[in-house]
Amino acid sequence: MTPGGGDAGAAVERLARATRALITGHQRPDGDSLGSQLALAELAGALGVATVVVNHDPAPSTLADLPGAALVAVGASLPADFPDRFDLVVAVECPELERAGFDGLDRLPILNIDHHPANPLYGEVNYVDVDAPATGEMVWRMFRAAAIEPSAAAATNTFVALSTDTGDFRYGNATARAFRAAAEMVDAGASPTAVAQWIHGRRRAAAVHLLGAALSTLRLEADGRIAVIELDHESFRRAGASPEDTEDIVNHPRAIDGVRAVVFLKQWERGVVRVSLRSTGAVDVRRVAERLGGGGHANAAGCTVQGDLASTRELVVTAVREAVEAAS
Ligand code: 5GP
Ligand code: MN
Repeated sequence: MTPGGGDAGAAVERLARATRALITGHQRPDGDSLGSQLALAELAGALGVATVVVNHDPAPSTLADLPGAALVAVGASLPADFPDRFDLVVAVECPELERAGFDGLDRLPILNIDHHPANPLYGEVNYVDVDAPATGEMVWRMFRAAAIEPSAAAATNTFVALSTDTGDFRYGNATARAFRAAAEMVDAGASPTAVAQWIHGRRRAAAVHLLGAALSTLRLEADGRIAVIELDHESFRRAGASPEDTEDIVNHPRAIDGVRAVVFLKQWERGVVRVSLRSTGAVDVRRVAERLGGGGHANAAGCTVQGDLASTRELVVTAVREAVEAAS
């Protein structure tokens, strides 16, 4: 078994006691959230537990080929037979239960599986490991704890989770532990080539147009230590793009020499600005996001601000400037 914190065995034990579990993840699912949920559904099945995977939002098209992705029920409300016909909720990668986007999940016992540092342990059983490189790696350890051999499909789903959350094994969470788990997943049938093709090789043309629009707004602040890019409502319309097409854009300014933090402002709805923050090293953008009602990780965080682009830019850049100054 791969060593690590959090009690995978206790999570397996709680899952196995259920008859029919509702599995969910955070809104706007990413690779870690979706891959982990799909692998968990397989594990639950092997333990004799029926499952329904329910997500508030559709997954980005890059994740459409994950084994089992088509079986996920997507919608703003819970199944009609919830809670009566279920006896457990498995919340995956939700730093707060509310992040799933559904009311009333807490009517049933909750198994909380997450790696976010601020997780307040809202479950009956909390399998929370802040050192885990991805939730997918934690689910992988549940297979080991249950002594159930993961299928190639489960290995693929957890590999997607792990490789997306570590930025293709480039971020600070690309630890030896992450590589060990990845090696096991590849041994079990995950194909890094196929996964890389799904994640990076199927961009919609609209997304590339949107990237161009975003990069054309690049400005550098704080002596080149902060990069700011933005997309207004009109840019989305002109590119024929949707919110999911913004994925990955934030990483481009991150590559600029000397940049310590990136602010990416997205306004696909008038009066509301989605803010993505990225940083390097000791610059803590989670604190910035938290002050504005959001959250995340120290080097990758986000929030939603009510307002127009110009005032939000001013507000966020000022706060990020303080974070950069505090770290230098
Ligand atoms: P992104 O910029 O990709 O939308 O989000 C980056 C990270 O910040 C994600 O890992 C997510 O956990 C976190 N995050 C983004 N938006 C929010 C938010 O509104 N609230 C909280 N708590 N976390 C967020
Ligand atoms: Mn994650």
